[in-house]
Amino acid sequence: MKIAMIGTGYVGLVSGVCFSDFGHEVVCVDLNPDKIAMLDAGQVPIYEPGLDDLMARNVGAERLSFTTDLAQAVAGADAVFIAVGTPTRRGDGHADLTYVYAAARDIAAALTGYTVVVTKSTVPVGTNAEVARIIRKAAPEADFDVASNPEFLREGAAIDDFMRPDRVIVGVETKRAADVMADVYRPLFLRDFPIVTTDLESAEMIKYAANAFLATKITFINEIAGLCEKVGADVKQVAKGIGLDGRIGNKFLHAGPGYGGSCFPKDTSALARIGQEHAMPMQIVEAVIKVNDEVKRRMIDKITDLCGGSVNGRTIAVLGATFKPNTDDMRDAPSLTIVPALIGGGARVRIVDPQGRREGEALLPGATWAEDPYSAAKGADAIVMLTEWNEFRALDLERLAGLMASARMADLRNVYAASDLQEAGFVAYTGVGRAGFG
Ligand code: NAD
Repeated sequence: MKIAMIGTGYVGLVSGVCFSDFGHEVVCVDLNPDKIAMLDAGQVPIYEPGLDDLMARNVGAERLSFTTDLAQAVAGADAVFIAVGTPTRRGDGHADLTYVYAAARDIAAALTGYTVVVTKSTVPVGTNAEVARIIRKAAPEADFDVASNPEFLREGAAIDDFMRPDRVIVGVETKRAADVMADVYRPLFLRDFPIVTTDLESAEMIKYAANAFLATKITFINEIAGLCEKVGADVKQVAKGIGLDGRIGNKFLHAGPGYGGSCFPKDTSALARIGQEHAMPMQIVEAVIKVNDEVKRRMIDKITDLCGGSVNGRTIAVLGATFKPNTDDMRDAPSLTIVPALIGGGARVRIVDPQGRREGEALLPGATWAEDPYSAAKGADAIVMLTEWNEFRALDLERLAGLMASARMADLRNVYAASDLQEAGFVAYTGVGRAGFG
């Protein structure tokens, strides 16, 4: 099959590379000539484990190529995937569909022969119908169908998620489009991964409902964590105790500094907005958004308390800036709220992150960047564990305590046990949803 992938971001590039690994002939398109130049030179513009090798293998097999020329990629394609960004629209919280509709117009002008135009971007209900209208208006003779194929991959584990998905959702209107989509996903179909075929609107809704549910689950445990601190319970034990119930499940029950990232904040905001527009307010989702903001603010209070009531003049080593480990993505990361608040309070902040610096430097002005946790901690008054990279999970605690001016830790990911920190010579510790000391 011939596939065109429009947009080579975290979703488009991974999807394009994986489709080529299925054996399809894939052309990836991006407006950004720098990205395409990098890809043509064999470099991956994002950090995603395993992507460079898989990309090189498929480029080598001549199944995968890159271009800025959308028309050339779309002509003759059996399926054209739209995987462009749908960020929050400034001002009203809605999904900004400018990039999706611009891509649809460009695709319309380039279609040849029967083509399925598939939206992979996360889009509100009704967007696929609008994409169809745009194409029909621009190219009345074009022979095409639209399909909705939302993506569920997680950054940091994206290839495995794409190759071994819990499910693939395909929203279609015609059997012809369903047949093309079945061919696209045949390798997964043959290995018995569930492919769920729905109408367009349900497919669009599934993506928002899934993300809102996950954001709710995280926020629920974060709120319970706050109460655990007040009543003397340990949220890790509570999460284990409830997670063993099969109806609840043990995933997404790790208390932390509040959700961030490129999807949950914008998708919960968009869903709340869709609810308001249809006079069906999404009250739970609206509460989740509000509570998540409060969770992040609570983290700032925690760090301030750890430093004796003020961070003014303190040196704080922040471990982790990206919104989660194994990605360089800084979009809506909790660090973007917490670090500026610390700097605003008069702290000197040193950050260390295995992949976040390239994006993070411009986003976190006033902070300095260290090469490793030990140089970040040298002479510091506190360590804040913000992103649980593997590199930060087995630190030499005694060495850290020895390097610091005052050995205090705010472990916002509950990586370390209070007893281990105490033994290593830390004088103060606060976690999330559990007892601290000092
Ligand atoms: P991204 O910002 O990383 O990438 C989007 C890319 O599209 C950019 O490289 C941009 O230059 C390009 N682009 C924009 N308009 C274009 C056009 N007209 N022609 C060609 N290229 C164009 O975005 P992302 O994180 O990959 O997300 C894409 C979509 O997938 C979003 O709707 C997002 O919600 C959804 N999604 C993201 C994830 C994730 O983990 N990042 C997971 C599931 C779904």
